[in-house]
Amino acid sequence: MKIIMLGAPGAGKGTQAKLIADKYNLPHISTGDIFRANIKEGTALGMEAKKYMDQGLLVPDELTVKILLDRVAKEDCKNGYVLDGFPRTIPQAEVLDKALAELGESVDFAINVEVPDENIIKRMGGRRACLSCGATYHLEHIPPKAEGLCDHCGRELVLRDDDKPETVKNRLQVYHEQTSPLIDFYRAKGVLKEVDGTRRMDEVFNAIVEILD
Ligand code: AMP
Repeated sequence: MKIIMLGAPGAGKGTQAKLIADKYNLPHISTGDIFRANIKEGTALGMEAKKYMDQGLLVPDELTVKILLDRVAKEDCKNGYVLDGFPRTIPQAEVLDKALAELGESVDFAINVEVPDENIIKRMGGRRACLSCGATYHLEHIPPKAEGLCDHCGRELVLRDDDKPETVKNRLQVYHEQTSPLIDFYRAKGVLKEVDGTRRMDEVFNAIVEILD
């Protein structure tokens, strides 16, 4: 099963992607996580990506597409995967489609987690992330067990640079201009499913499971 998660930054698609990946035993592939891992390791790719990420801009397609295609070619992806944060532009979606078509495959579900901008802006200020293991929390909705510390590795949680208010505004603008056209793209292919992302995390997840089952 090949699943794409769509939705604005902060809509909760990352959280849902991880839950789906666990339940259906599929790899969770987040291009944002791959970039952040590269930044942490100080690779050339990471340094290049950081320039864009810190401003809330998209990393250019040439860089992004290659890392994604390399990742989905790995052995653990042979039964499918959950893509979180890719594609983010129509050209990225077209490259993915072409690569899948060459294998006689296609995307099974594109799940759009819908949340209005006003809710997103409120939510993002409460997000906290562990830069060490990639776990994400929310001060109100998914608080860590010990305040300010990661449940998994005990490291300090931070508000990511790209979750800061001025960057969030840019990211929403970029989302509406470059990423939201993917909703019609996948609707035209007959694989679009929409869920109301303003509900509780478990309710959103149940709605997604109903679609996938
Ligand atoms: P995310 O963790 O998915 O919110 O991604 C964080 C940042 O990484 C984004 O704001 C972009 O700068 C960059 N990024 C992640 N995925 C992509 C993508 N598919 N295309 C371009 N930039 C991306």
